[in-house]
Amino acid sequence: MKNQQILKAIQKGFSKSEHLKNDKIIIIGAGIAGLTAGLILHHSGANVTILEAQQTFGGRIKTLENFSESGIELGAEFVHGEHSAWFDLLKKHKIKLENVENKPYEHYFINGELWSEEKLLETDDFNHLMRIKNNLYDYKGAEISIKSYLQKKEELEDEAIAILENWLSAEYGDSLENMSLPAFARAGRAWQAGQKNYTLSEKTLKEVLETIFAPILPLIQYQKIVQEIDYTNKKISIKTTENEIFESEKVVLSVPISILQKNKISFKPDLPIRRKTAIQSLKIAPIIKVILKFSQNFWGNELSGFYTGYPNIINFYPSGKTEKDKVLTTFLSGEQAYHFQKLEKNKKNEGVNFLLEMLCDTFNNRIPNFSFEKSHLIDWSEVPYIEGGYSIPTQKAYFWRKKLALPLRNKIFWAGEATSARHPASVNGALETGFRAAKQIWIGEE
Ligand SMILES: Cc1cc2nc3c(=O)[nH]c(=O)nc-3n(C[C@H](O)[C@H](O)[C@H](O)COP(=O)(O)OP(=O)(O)OC[C@H]3O[C@@H](n4cnc5c(N)ncnc54)[C@H](O)[C@@H]3O)c2cc1C
Repeated sequence: MKNQQILKAIQKGFSKSEHLKNDKIIIIGAGIAGLTAGLILHHSGANVTILEAQQTFGGRIKTLENFSESGIELGAEFVHGEHSAWFDLLKKHKIKLENVENKPYEHYFINGELWSEEKLLETDDFNHLMRIKNNLYDYKGAEISIKSYLQKKEELEDEAIAILENWLSAEYGDSLENMSLPAFARAGRAWQAGQKNYTLSEKTLKEVLETIFAPILPLIQYQKIVQEIDYTNKKISIKTTENEIFESEKVVLSVPISILQKNKISFKPDLPIRRKTAIQSLKIAPIIKVILKFSQNFWGNELSGFYTGYPNIINFYPSGKTEKDKVLTTFLSGEQAYHFQKLEKNKKNEGVNFLLEMLCDTFNNRIPNFSFEKSHLIDWSEVPYIEGGYSIPTQKAYFWRKKLALPLRNKIFWAGEATSARHPASVNGALETGFRAAKQIWIGEE
């Protein structure tokens, strides 16, 4: 029902929204949250302007063009869940999706051999690990990090923890050491979008945004880096780093939580203490994607992805939409992201060379050495105006996300993935927050 409401609002705006015609609304940030709020309010008749710091829209949806045959996703890539407004919106626009579960199995490199997940599922050890992972979502006990729990309560060995580290840090955004088990379990239980995962089989996400949000793209003003919001008076005054002033009755603030944590935007009057606490209680960690292009496909068509062997368990998966794309993507989060950052800091390309060595080991020194063509690396913690991957389950994250979602004096309305209690760290969650902010403005909620 809620998904249908969101879809309807995105297509037509809110009904009986005459009162919005008197409002000038400024949206800060042209990621999926800001774009969604903008489109709904625009369809509802409001006078909308979107201020975006970068030279393009999309934020953490970003496609790498002209690297391979087809565009490669540098940020969001998978559609998580079949019961979501985002999934329904893609279907409505006839975007072709492929269920990841229909692809060949993931493989794991264990003791010098590649094992398919299908084969591993016949072993007790692997099933045990799966059971432990699934049971984590039922945890309702005292505060403890996921890592401590696995070590102390489950008494898991390092290799098993390293596999779980890879699975869960990719999904939730940081190392097992930095994630709170109660918050992780709460997030898992709050998730309502469904468990299936999809990829887009023809279009890139950038192309999809261009189609869906076409009516409001002309309303975006680029390279407008907001640095101050003065909400003292009826008219809100928004100042950019170039000292340009924009005025409006309402503001939708959809910048990443990292930007607010670093006080890159100041507020007059200062934000209430509780809201400051909410902002500082959430955390966003590095996520790195490395895209590797080869002249030959040495991994074959029998696997959807693979994990290199312990102690450096790294997930690689084929990317691109055609057979001509001979590209592997690796997604580094948690311990692996911190390790990679250290290598690259030590010497440029040391991290990339390390990944190539992992590939050589996995494929018995076949091919990667001489068929490797080029790489593209994006460390999201270093991307200006984003500065991190996505918000992670820190202590009481569910509670703080809900607090952040409340409007401030009926003037500043909050959006962005970190403010979603149900679906944080996802495109769908960010989209839902854009709907929420637009609805709060429409209703005039305090
Ligand atoms: C590597 C990676 C992989 C991911 N994979 C997936 C996935 O497969 N599936 C999925 O569902 N989700 C995925 N996500 C998460 C998803 O991308 C995000 O949750 C979502 O895109 C966030 O949207 P948003 O609108 O909240 O924020 P953003 O997209 O970050 O948009 C915020 C915008 O605010 C702008 N801004 C910042 N500061 C200022 C300022 N001072 N003034 C003006 N503008 C400013 C930024 O430039 C940016 O455009 C992934 C994220 C990353 C990083």
